[in-house]
Amino acid sequence: CIRDSVYSARKEALIKPLLDQYTQDSGIKVNLVTGSGDALLTRLQSEGRNSPADVLITTDAGRLYRAQQAGVLQKADSEFLDSAIPPHLRSIDGYWYGLSVRARAIVYASERVQPGELSTYENLADPEWKGRICVRSSSNIYNQSLVAGMLASRGEEKTAAWLKAFVANFARPPQGGDRDQIKAVAAGQCDLALVNSYYLGAMLQSSDPAERNAAARVAIFWPNQGDRGTHINVSGAGLTAAAKNVTAARALIEFLATDDSQRWYAQTNNEYPVREDISPGSLLESWGEFKADQVDVTELGRYNAAAVMAMDRAGWK
Ligand code: FE
Repeated sequence: CIRDSVYSARKEALIKPLLDQYTQDSGIKVNLVTGSGDALLTRLQSEGRNSPADVLITTDAGRLYRAQQAGVLQKADSEFLDSAIPPHLRSIDGYWYGLSVRARAIVYASERVQPGELSTYENLADPEWKGRICVRSSSNIYNQSLVAGMLASRGEEKTAAWLKAFVANFARPPQGGDRDQIKAVAAGQCDLALVNSYYLGAMLQSSDPAERNAAARVAIFWPNQGDRGTHINVSGAGLTAAAKNVTAARALIEFLATDDSQRWYAQTNNEYPVREDISPGSLLESWGEFKADQVDVTELGRYNAAAVMAMDRAGWK
């Protein structure tokens, strides 16, 4: 009997119901292993050709690129995926495909910041923001990809200067995850934070009243609408190099890009569908449309090492 084995850096609640639907439709059973993105990549590398995994699902183009470079993925050769998913949101040679889009936005204290004071990521380096910015550590891939995107569009010199002034504006040494930055803004420890958009959605819909209250005190702002657009990233999937059932594994990734899956996959985590013909849910629509940076997300992987070095040099802990 055919089986797909999936390594997923997405939490079980964000993927299992969809895989169950796939099994119902196709008759192909799925073994699901969940773990952190970095741990799953290490595991795939050490298992090599003996890995039971057929499909890797993970977040951030930086990680997908890293998996491709590590040699644990193979080309999917899927005409459907190549036509459904915009070229700048996938590996151009088919090693991985973006399946949902997230934006790294500014979340600000509605009581202390007027949206008219905000404009670009670059503007956050201005002295007016001194001691007012919260952001998580530079060891986090989301920040690395943000800086990689800036390196790709603005070059090394401008990015280095920006980083130095931006870091000087931090309200506190980087700590915690994106939700913690939103909580710190709500608690008055800082006036704005850079966070992935879906965390605000998750907090607004949280069963924890403290998270809902914090989220209600902040608003979202899309930076760089007058130039390159807000930095976006993807969650995605690739066929593993060790895949035994290439046809079934490809079918599973294709299933994740179908209309219904795209809607469910994006909306369950308050993300944007990667396909432009599928509309996001009502919460995201209430945040308004925004111009997204059109840079090929592969660049985020390509510039990752340079980004890590530049952040380190600027003293971003
Ligand atoms: Fe996340």
